Amino acid sequence: MSKVTEIFGTKVFDDRVMKANLPTDIYRSLKKTIDEGAKLDIDVADAVADAMKDWAIANGATHFTHWFQPLTGITAEKHDAFISPAPDGRVIMEFSGKELIKGEPDASSFPSGGLRATFEARGYTAWDPTSYAFIKDSTLCIPTAFCSYGGEALDKKTPLLRSMEALNKQALRILKLFGNDTVKCVRTSVGPEQEYFLVPKELYEKRKDLVFTGRTLFGAKPPKGQELDDHYFGAIKPRVAEYMKDLNEELWKLGILAKTQHNEVAPSQHELAPIYSTTNIATDHNQLTMEIMQKVAARHGLVCLLHEKPFAGVNGSGKHNNWSISTDTGVNLLTPGETPYENAQFLIFLCAVIKAVDDYQDLLRLSVATAGNDHRLGANEAPPAVVSMFLGDELTAVLDAIENDTPYNGAEKTVMKLGVHVLPRFTRDTTDRNRTSPFAFTGNKFEFRMLGSSNSIACANIMLNAAVAESLKIYADRLEGAEDFESALHAMIKKTIKDHKRIIFNGNGYDDAWIKEATEVRGLLNLKTTPDCMPRLLDKKNVDMLTSHKVFSVAELHSRCDIMLDNYCKSVNIEANTMVDMARKQIMPAIEAYVSDLAKACTRKLAVSDKISIKTEKGLIEKLSALTDKIDEATEALEEAIASYKKITDVTEASYRIRDDILPKMDALRAPCDEAETLTAEKYWPFPTYDKLLFGV
Ligand code: ADP
Ligand code: MG
Repeated sequence: MSKVTEIFGTKVFDDRVMKANLPTDIYRSLKKTIDEGAKLDIDVADAVADAMKDWAIANGATHFTHWFQPLTGITAEKHDAFISPAPDGRVIMEFSGKELIKGEPDASSFPSGGLRATFEARGYTAWDPTSYAFIKDSTLCIPTAFCSYGGEALDKKTPLLRSMEALNKQALRILKLFGNDTVKCVRTSVGPEQEYFLVPKELYEKRKDLVFTGRTLFGAKPPKGQELDDHYFGAIKPRVAEYMKDLNEELWKLGILAKTQHNEVAPSQHELAPIYSTTNIATDHNQLTMEIMQKVAARHGLVCLLHEKPFAGVNGSGKHNNWSISTDTGVNLLTPGETPYENAQFLIFLCAVIKAVDDYQDLLRLSVATAGNDHRLGANEAPPAVVSMFLGDELTAVLDAIENDTPYNGAEKTVMKLGVHVLPRFTRDTTDRNRTSPFAFTGNKFEFRMLGSSNSIACANIMLNAAVAESLKIYADRLEGAEDFESALHAMIKKTIKDHKRIIFNGNGYDDAWIKEATEVRGLLNLKTTPDCMPRLLDKKNVDMLTSHKVFSVAELHSRCDIMLDNYCKSVNIEANTMVDMARKQIMPAIEAYVSDLAKACTRKLAVSDKISIKTEKGLIEKLSALTDKIDEATEALEEAIASYKKITDVTEASYRIRDDILPKMDALRAPCDEAETLTAEKYWPFPTYDKLLFGV
């Protein structure tokens, strides 16, 4: 398939293009900036901008944009043409180093959680040279970070880069202790597996709930769901295969390593996974992937749903964040090594993750919290809201042996001593994989499975990187001062296992008994909803940790907590409004029309003869009329709840009201509507039903 190699990266200003188009000295200093974070001279920036512009124009671009990731969770762009007026009335194409490095979008409408007073509402965007520029449609997109004039981060990329730097700094200290001086940089890598649904566009457009909220707010169970497990990994339908082919090509052109695709558990649900890459690039690429998925779907008469729970009764969509730590010398620090010393190094990084996940369960949980994801976590299809870790039997046995100074390998009867014994290689077990664990070790990486399909992966990785940096910092502080490195190391690993083994659970995470044990015996947190977990961002231990590693400032944390809660409230509020609208303007009139026709049928039948039975019609009229009353009452109750919620000004209090009042009243409205759907003749129902949506492609 030479074609793939030909199209791959054709829309990316990547290393190959830079090398070919930049003078050698300019290329070298840019490379230094990319690899080592060295400061970029304006002369260099000017030369890079010029080459970038020429390349972009040659590839069909007319505009450029600073492409950034505000706290709305999606990406933002404002296009500027390269044109500049020439004295003779014509235009020339220009792009300066200054324009490349810094942009000033008048982005005053993005959420800032009070970080910018409106009179100084402009933020600025700053080029992230570690993520390649690319062409989308006819615009050169320059990946950037987005900050306020005070320097506070207004986006997801800035804290992500800071968290990567924090982890780099602490990991290098640890590696130095192991005598490793050649490593210059430690980076985390991520491979995000992305789930999504495809539905026919013409059906989608007939459903206000899908259009306004991304999920169905009504809908009775179809006769068939996912119970036969016949969709998972099943043969891909031709129309979907065409879509995937087109999607892959678009992604490849953008340098995105789209690799794996398959059908998922629910009907019309699919998954795409790229080959992993450095975390900030993986984040940019995942944002782009979600955008391109939707764009390509439109070309195929489809709509790609990225909502976490588009349909009740079948699985929702998540995103598995496969995460590892590696050095610039190509060593994955989460792989057991060849020598006892390397094994000890592996164990310390493993312990750092165990400690991080236990100490910062709340941060991990809240990093994936959205109104949409609240429908998945703990619903027997995704990991529970309780964070725990799966290590597998073998690794757990090794840790047990270390903790208790007992022999690990029964046959050898030797006591595990770090720095003496070589650990067994933990081969990835493909036969007995635990798919119910929120955080699973899979041989050389961890798979964090709680993310929702529409989440930016930035948030989860910010918290993960920061928490692991904190464990490593504590270890480095202790070990750097130790008299006897090896025994200090051994003692520390033992202590970590003892203190944090409660977070390790290799059993079935979907089991109710586990939730009971986790919360009652082990004291793990069970933060079920967004309002339950989000305020914990401001707990002292979390603020202390995140500010000490300079991942967030105190002001940034407050603003983020507000924005996330506000987003939760607004999303659910839109759903509630949509339900009221659909119930009043579509569902009740539809039932009314059917009932009226049934009544007419009765009259006509009786006109023929009063001996003709009208039992069925009568029964239906009675049932549907009673349901209509229920729907009317429930709609009114929801309307009142919305009106009363709107009076609340404090966002935390508002989020509790959403959780405790609005959401239950939405459920109460849905139930009679779904029941009425099952009793109403198909041609009367005002919008496409689940059977068509789920089996229509
Ligand atoms: P699964 O069985 O969970 O679908 P895959 O083998 O398909 O697992 O891998 C899932 C993702 O994990 C892919 O995106 C892959 O590139 C990524 N991955 C593999 N190795 C690593 C690693 N060392 N670090 C981060 N991600 C990785
Ligand atoms: Mg997976």
